[in-house]
Amino acid sequence: MKQGNTDGNHGQDPSKRSDSPPVPEPPRWTFRRRPDLPSDRCNMVAHLRNRKDRRKQMLKKLLCMVWKCAICGPILKRQWLRHLSKVIAGIDQIYLSRRPREDWPALQRKINRAEGEYCRVEIEDGTLVVFTNAAIGELVPLAQRDDLLQAVIDAATFRGRAISTSRGWEKPGRKGKKPEWSRVSWLPITLEDARRVVSELGLTEPKYAEVGGSYVVVELPDDWFGDDEKGYKAFCRHLERGPSKLSTTESELGEEHDDIPGGQKA
Ligand SMILES: [Zn+2]
Repeated sequence: MKQGNTDGNHGQDPSKRSDSPPVPEPPRWTFRRRPDLPSDRCNMVAHLRNRKDRRKQMLKKLLCMVWKCAICGPILKRQWLRHLSKVIAGIDQIYLSRRPREDWPALQRKINRAEGEYCRVEIEDGTLVVFTNAAIGELVPLAQRDDLLQAVIDAATFRGRAISTSRGWEKPGRKGKKPEWSRVSWLPITLEDARRVVSELGLTEPKYAEVGGSYVVVELPDDWFGDDEKGYKAFCRHLERGPSKLSTTESELGEEHDDIPGGQKA
């Protein structure tokens, strides 16, 4: 294949140089779908309220973390890959089966009887790929585990619950643990406008907030919560309406995408 000339690449077509990158292989799966467009709410500014200290309010862009969202679907896949790689790294033998969907109930019973754990991935072609520590299916060679897991997760659908596991292999989440902040609303304004509202109301960000950061934190005066939370409600209305002065949102356009998953639910 190589043409003589061992002392360099003089006169050779640069595309035939031996150090040029190899031609990429096509994906191994026949069916591959992209997620939909980002959802309407994805990356919108949310108004959050601290659960322990009602005076503390946060305005922050949040991701929707919905599977079919073009931004969040791939993030969820990366989270699952990271989690499952860790899970299977600690297990001696991992088995894999690829079955039609209707075989699932019987397969699940078999795994349960063997007291095994499993991870079930739904592939775009409608089949299910199941990893388990029970001796069911084909033993996955140790050296191939990570590549195989990655390939399977890549080929997973972007529908909700595309990936599910038995209890022992669950992805750690906030289940059962209340997050520090609860969501009050999604705001139809940019973060820059939210910051303007805050300054128009004479509120300043506390010292611990990151100045010019990707979120705004303010502490409302205590008496805004008296009289049926009159001041607090007015604050919420101001946020909904945006700053009173006509503002440009151009500065927002160049802002970097905030890659922090926003799973917090009110
Ligand atoms: Zn999203």
